[in-house]
Amino acid sequence: MEQAVLPKEVQVLDQAIMILWDDGHRSTYPHRYLRLRCPCASCVDEMTGRARLDPDTVPQDVSALDHMQVGNYALQFLWSDAHYTGIYPYRYLISHCACIACGESRAGANAQVSEPEE
Ligand SMILES: [Zn+2]
Ligand SMILES: [Zn+2]
Repeated sequence: MEQAVLPKEVQVLDQAIMILWDDGHRSTYPHRYLRLRCPCASCVDEMTGRARLDPDTVPQDVSALDHMQVGNYALQFLWSDAHYTGIYPYRYLISHCACIACGESRAGANAQVSEPEE
């Protein structure tokens, strides 16, 4: 089994949410970026994986008010638009890391590694 990377530190900053992972990687996510990628059932159709969330309904200045740990696999954010159901598994957060290094490596990786079913 793949070694799970866990967050060492989570900080909700003015401009972004910063997660320091225990492998040393530092991820920053603009608030609205992460809010629009909420993987919960009311934002994403569970059957098709298609987005049900209309980005126009999410305020430009939406931000995380608070966060909490869910078990040992996810973070839950409380968003300022009163959306509280989004649970972001660590793996999901890592694969959506918005830092420059990850953006570049994703752009360069044409062959996507398929994730094994769990
Ligand atoms: Zn959601
Ligand atoms: Zn990154």
